[in-house]
Amino acid sequence: MLFYTPVLRPGVRASSPELLARLFGGTTGEAEPVERFGGVPHGLATQHWPYCGECGRSLSLIAQLTHHADRLPLGREGRMLFAFQCNHEPGTCETWDQDSGANAAFVVEPEAIGSGDTPAPADAPPSDPAALVTGWTREDDGLTAEQAAAFFSDETIAALGEDLIDEERHGGTHLGGIPCWIQSADEAPRGWRFLGQIADAHEFEEEVVPAHNFGDMGIAYLFAQDQEAGVPKVKMFWQCG
Ligand SMILES: [Zn+2]
Repeated sequence: MLFYTPVLRPGVRASSPELLARLFGGTTGEAEPVERFGGVPHGLATQHWPYCGECGRSLSLIAQLTHHADRLPLGREGRMLFAFQCNHEPGTCETWDQDSGANAAFVVEPEAIGSGDTPAPADAPPSDPAALVTGWTREDDGLTAEQAAAFFSDETIAALGEDLIDEERHGGTHLGGIPCWIQSADEAPRGWRFLGQIADAHEFEEEVVPAHNFGDMGIAYLFAQDQEAGVPKVKMFWQCG
């Protein structure tokens, strides 16, 4: 099975136009990559900014990723996936739960995507450190599609050969392939397809930087359910040690 890992460079906070100008020579510089982890969303309409189902405050961006036929199939060119969670009082709202409403993952049609960084809501959701995606590296985990399908429930994982279970799996951020579970695989929503996972740190070329609050060394998982019409539904949840 193929999977894709992001090539990242640190992002600059949108609130520092002076710094942006100094680094990139003002607004005439190269366009910022739209795909990102942390920071602020790009081109999201302000009315689409999600709010926490528990505390009611605005959520913080975890990831913004573009449709790609192999890497992130969302059913249509230009569709954009957004994932957010509540950062206001870490550990209070149940951001790890796929049904709590304290996180949000959703797909937006290209017609609804604007340009420029989206201004943050008035309650100023704390941003995670930003990493911009400058490219993707394709890798092969060596699993057949049938073997990969077994990694979505504890029962079928247990039935796999020891060599397949024990082999070191990619625990970092990736799209496609299989999830690297920290706790039970049975948390995967039944019948939904795995899109990818997000590690709690940005792996830059030179250093690893803590990025998202997924508990202790946690990993967030994204699953999609295709719809008869319109964008796929997406769920996010995370597990930690
Ligand atoms: Zn909240």
